[in-house]
Order: sequence, then structure tokens, then C-alpha cells
Amino acid sequence: MKRFFSLFLALAGVAATLPANTASAAPAKDKHVILVSIDGFPAYLWHDPTLAVPNLRELAAKGASAKALTVSNPSITWINHTTLITGVEPRKHGVLFNGLLVRKDGVPPVIEQWADKSRMVFAPTLYDIAHEAGLTTAESDWVAITNPGTIHWSFAELPQSDGAVVKEMIADGVATEEEIGWMQRGPNRKGVHFLDSMWTRAAIHMWETHQPNLLLYHTLNTDSTHHRYGPRSGPGYTALELADRLLGDLIDAVDRSGLRDKTTIVVTTDHGFKKVNKFVRPNVALKKAGLARGLGPTISSCDAYVMTQGGMAFAYVTNAARRAELLPQLKEMFSTMEGIAEVIDGEDGPRLGMPKPEENPGMGDLVLYAADGYAFRGDATGEEVVTPAVNYAGTHGYRSSDPELDGIFVANGPDIQPGVVLERVRNLDVAPTLAKILGLTLPEVDGRVLDEILKK
Ligand SMILES: [Zn+2]
Repeated sequence: MKRFFSLFLALAGVAATLPANTASAAPAKDKHVILVSIDGFPAYLWHDPTLAVPNLRELAAKGASAKALTVSNPSITWINHTTLITGVEPRKHGVLFNGLLVRKDGVPPVIEQWADKSRMVFAPTLYDIAHEAGLTTAESDWVAITNPGTIHWSFAELPQSDGAVVKEMIADGVATEEEIGWMQRGPNRKGVHFLDSMWTRAAIHMWETHQPNLLLYHTLNTDSTHHRYGPRSGPGYTALELADRLLGDLIDAVDRSGLRDKTTIVVTTDHGFKKVNKFVRPNVALKKAGLARGLGPTISSCDAYVMTQGGMAFAYVTNAARRAELLPQLKEMFSTMEGIAEVIDGEDGPRLGMPKPEENPGMGDLVLYAADGYAFRGDATGEEVVTPAVNYAGTHGYRSSDPELDGIFVANGPDIQPGVVLERVRNLDVAPTLAKILGLTLPEVDGRVLDEILKK
């Protein structure tokens, strides 16, 4: 493990020693950018004429759009939001899970979901350089953004009841203490449709009260509904149409503020979605092979373990002494397992934009991709490796080259050339393009400025 952490710290050190002044000398203090992420919005649904998203379609008709947006591997939420806001591949920004994976010898790794941003994001973000340049920043339900030090106004996924923005909202009559209580973890937490309405109210409140130069706004109900009922389902369409209604509320607030002619709105997503009808559970196979031990769903000790993320999974050897012996054995076992389409060496991570295991302790020793119709599950109950998917109809995580994982991209604002429709953009291109609009430059990005959508 020492080997991992010394390299880990070395990589973190590289990020920490970037030139102090990475921002441009001419930040646009009179401009505003709103980056909207509607979670799990596949490009194929954007092209579906029966999907009624009038606010989004009007933004596109009067602005620019792309027919497809390429996402990052793994095609998972926090990873792709971090790509959107840094303009670099996960190999550089370091986020590989919806949280920070911590490896331990002899037991399964754990995910620290609310780890500070400084421990998990190793590249400068758009909000970091905006803050450094003297612009103001705000976020509602953005992710991998705990205690960043560079956000002026925050309304988090789990908002703190004594947070400054929460207090303002309650004082202004925009929210009640009871409603903030319904957002906290536990038996009183309400459904995601309610959380989305609160994150939208918070975004509108921060806009109206503080007029930030950069506002990040993320809604989640589309993702949870697609997981439960599947993409192209009645509930799935309804969720997308609700997300559009909430977006319309925010656009109305921008119009009322008189700042519309200074505001660029970009609406995008973190990943598409695929339908699922079976689970594949690799930890059951590890248990049957004697490589993982425990009662019920929980593994208490192991020589190998698989962390699952929907359409993909990372396999780890958790007994360092048996690493050389077990890696080929695991590769053979997973390569012949029903429901697994592909097994890739962790060392080949850079081919997919991901790190090598020695570059980031979260990276799997093996990368597993599920076959069409299958999703990985991490539990180890019972004897059946493959089971029917019950109350579960869709997921993501599959290779970003799968067209069903493509997402949406729409841009509208004073600097955007109306009528431009690009074939394809990459999520890597979003941060450098928004940086340019704000008069900033993100250093050493993997993406590029989308000059084709900008007015000359
Ligand atoms: Zn997501």
C-alpha cells in the first residue's frame, strides 16, 4: 500500500504546485455562465420527437447544440461531472467513483462519499480559476465539491441546516426548516423529485440574491427514474419533462433579473443510459472460489473484491502477497463469466482515459464491462452469480464509446452563434469553452475550446 500512497501523493503534489496564477488577466466580471447538468440524459432521447422538453428545445433553437456528447470512462456521475468542470480525463482529475475509494489489505475497499474535494480532484476546476480571478461562484447539488474553498455560495446535495444559503432561503421564505430536514439522510428523506425542486429553488435563490458569475446546477430525478423504470419508459419521459420544467423556472429567473443578455446557459449531462434485465454478481463467484469470506450480503475478509458501478466494475486483489498469483486467475474467471463482455488490465487504463493502478489507488487491477442487458451488483448473498434484475431497469457505467452512453449538449447566450448544430462534442470541451467565455484559461486541458459555437 505504501507504493500506492507515495505515488498518490506525488500526483496530488503535481496538482498542488501548478502555477499560482493560472487565470487569464481579463476575467469577464460582467458576464455570467450557468452550467446545468440533467443527470442521465441520453442523446437518443434528445432526438426523440415525442419527448416534450420545450425550454431545452428553445435554448437549442436560438443557440447551438450537438447531436452527441462523448462522456468519460467510467460513465458514472461524479467522474463525468468532474470532467465537465476540469476539461481533463479521469486519468488526470483522479475521480473514479461517486466518492473516494480507500483500499485496505484483506478487506473490501470502502467509498468515502463526502471526502473533501482536495483529496479527490487533482486538476484545477473552472470554479477554482474563476474564484482566483475574482469572479463569484455558486453551486446547487454539484458533486465532488465538498469544502472546495473556491465556491462563494453553496447548496449541497445534503445541505447543512446551518449553512449560509439555507439560512438566507429560510429568512426569505423560499424554504422552510422542515423542507431542509426532508433533504437529510434518514427515514424522513423525501423522493428525488422533491430534492430536485429544492436544488432548483436554491439555484434560483442564489441567482436572484447574488448574481454569481458562475452557477453550477445539477438535477438527479432523471437518473434515479431511469435506474428504476428504464430509459424510454413512461416514468423516464415524465422525469425528463419535469427536469425541463425546473430548467424553465431557472431561465424565467434569469429573464426577470435583466441579465439574460449577459448570461450563457449550457445544458448537458454526465452519461446516457442502457436497459438492464439481469444482474451479474462477481463477489458471489469470488466467495464460491474461496477468495472472499463472509455471511449474507457482506464480505468480512477477502483476497480479491469487486467494486461495481452499474455497467462496469473494478476488481482488486486485496491480498498483496498473492497479487501475481491471483491476477491471471481472476482474469480467467471473469473472462468466462456470463454477463461479462470484456476484461481489461488496469495497466491499460490510459487507453480508456483512466489511470494505471500505480497512479491512483482507486483504479482497479482489472476493469470489467458488463454485456448488453446486464448490470453488475456488489452483494454476495446466495449462490447465483446471475439473477433477474428486480425493480431495476437501466444503468450506465458501460464504455463511453457505446452510442447509448452519449449525452446531450445545448448552449445559448450572447457569445453563442445561433443555429450551429455540431455532430459531436466531448464533455472534455465544456470547461475550456466556458472558461473562454468568462475570459479565463484552464491550463493543460485534454479538451478544446468549441470555437465553432462562439460568435466571431
Ligand atoms: Zn449520473
